[in-house]
Amino acid sequence: MAEYILSKSTYIRGLQCYKSLYLNRFRPYLRDKITEEQLAKFARGHAVGKVAQQLFPGGITMSRPGKSSALKTAQLITEGCPVMYEPCFISNQVIVALDILVNQPDGRYAYEVKSSKALSSVYYNDAFLQYHIIRDSGLKPDKFFLVHRNAEIDLSDSAEIENMFVFTDVSAECESQETIVQGNIDQMLNVLTRDKSPDIQPGKHCMSPYPCDFRGVCWKKISHSEQEMLMGNQ
Ligand code: SF4
Repeated sequence: MAEYILSKSTYIRGLQCYKSLYLNRFRPYLRDKITEEQLAKFARGHAVGKVAQQLFPGGITMSRPGKSSALKTAQLITEGCPVMYEPCFISNQVIVALDILVNQPDGRYAYEVKSSKALSSVYYNDAFLQYHIIRDSGLKPDKFFLVHRNAEIDLSDSAEIENMFVFTDVSAECESQETIVQGNIDQMLNVLTRDKSPDIQPGKHCMSPYPCDFRGVCWKKISHSEQEMLMGNQ
């Protein structure tokens, strides 16, 4: 059995559509091509994450997410490592890599950094999953923060690093969502044991929260005018 089946991105994908979750695992070659715009967005997210590390300098960066990274994370936590970047956790067949974990005087604080200038429901769902998996793997974060860019201040050498970001403590919400998150995980793992993709018809969910990258195959079944309507062009 695989050490993990779901990740942050596949969990978010599964919340949007079980069919997308299934196709992504078993028919990834059917995905639409990644656009230049999406690639630029990934690069921006990575760059902002690197800047945010300066909020808590001197940390140790974990290697690519995987079992060895999770073992190393556990070891560093046991040794009392003060700051870790991209620590990795695996539990219940789910892998997550947090952006920053800090050993504060009053406990372990988890920080998930977002490159956007506002929070969205996707970011909350991401935090809920991470909190649950981190706690389930044996480390209960004492606080969990979503961190996003301050819309008023550009990322530049002249700005104070603390002013570039906005911190939102979502610990209480994370705790209250644990049962729901576990239920979602169970459902998704169940979907992935099936021998056929779920029979889900195209609908508004195809565009929300993200435009699904299986529209190229799925939307063949619907008319051009329906496609335009789902894309909000009518
Ligand atoms: S295009 Fe729509 S129905 Fe098809 S997998 Fe994506 S979200 Fe699901």
